[in-house]
Amino acid sequence: MNCTFCGQCIESCPTGALHEKENINDVWAKLKDPDTYVVVQTAPSIRVALGEEFGMEIGTNVTGKMVSALKALGFDKVFDTNTGADFTIMEEATEFVKRFKENDNLPMTTSCCPGWVRFAEMEYPESLAHLSSCKSPHQMFGAIIKSYYAEKNNIDPKNIYVVSVMPCIAKKYERQREEMKVNGLWDVDAVITTRELARMIKQANIEFDKLEDQTFDNPMEEATGAAAIFGVTGGVMEAALRTAYELITGEELKKLDFEEVRGNKGIKKATIKIGDKEVKVAVAHGLGNARKVMEEIKNGTADYSFVEVMACPGGCIMGGGQPIKSSKIRMTTDIAAKRAAAMYSIDERSVIRKSHENPILKEIYKEYIGKPGEHKAHELLHTHYTPMEEYRI
Ligand code: SF4
Repeated sequence: MNCTFCGQCIESCPTGALHEKENINDVWAKLKDPDTYVVVQTAPSIRVALGEEFGMEIGTNVTGKMVSALKALGFDKVFDTNTGADFTIMEEATEFVKRFKENDNLPMTTSCCPGWVRFAEMEYPESLAHLSSCKSPHQMFGAIIKSYYAEKNNIDPKNIYVVSVMPCIAKKYERQREEMKVNGLWDVDAVITTRELARMIKQANIEFDKLEDQTFDNPMEEATGAAAIFGVTGGVMEAALRTAYELITGEELKKLDFEEVRGNKGIKKATIKIGDKEVKVAVAHGLGNARKVMEEIKNGTADYSFVEVMACPGGCIMGGGQPIKSSKIRMTTDIAAKRAAAMYSIDERSVIRKSHENPILKEIYKEYIGKPGEHKAHELLHTHYTPMEEYRI
């Protein structure tokens, strides 16, 4: 089937006839099983949308209540995929800097959106070498939980069940790809959407709006402002540039906001000065825009070095698993702008705003992984892609 599983059809179906394949019952069963250690992680954009399912304003940041609800549902550990996003930036910026210096398969494109990855595999199979080999943040984090965290806490990884709460339908497909296993175990065992999490909270009769705020669990509760903006178009590029700048120049980046890659324009192009180099970048969201950039790459007219692509218009904040809005609200409200503002505000208020300064990552690389881009990092955090010529239109 020539479908990228982005789920945008569900968001815009006028009759409300479409819905995701639910995994709620799988998760309830594991939560009830005393022999299973159930870990949940939540993507950056869940916290700015979940409240809408409980009547709150669009773009309300409900991080603390979301964590409380997940603890009340009975998860053994509640972790933040933002920490996984910091791993993605460590690996992706390292990969970009190497490829930029060696002029190797440029432009390099991001690979954290499984809808985009599947689109590229189906429609641009000859261009897959341009994709970064990095897994997406929740897959990286699942691999870390079942290796580093399991070893450190003496838990058999076979008994760990990782649940990802995602704004995304395509991540349900991504987690089942054969490439997403380490030592025969899936990185992630179940993916539920923002809407499914809201349903679980309602099924458990939790009064979401009355919950006290709680924080993510140790030891992996720390994440940076760079990770917080992953869910908005341009956010991955901005986060990667903050780290790539310091990797290339060895100097401290003073101005962290890359306004050039922000905003809702379908394709954003910018030239970023990094030391004595000029790095041309592009950010595309929506697969129609991705196609335009890929056609440029295919016909050799793209002069970019680094490209971010997100399948959903607006990025993951507008993902296919997010709360569904009536056509009236969609016509009269800039939903993406409100959710994006909430994410940028989390970044601005963060004490640490560059992924490579996350102290937990520094510790895990030092103790367990070694250097970004090296052997163990590749084993846990990177993947490969499969051309699917038979789907080409
Ligand atoms: Fe999923 Fe985000 Fe890609 Fe949409 S943009 S398909 S929500 S990863």
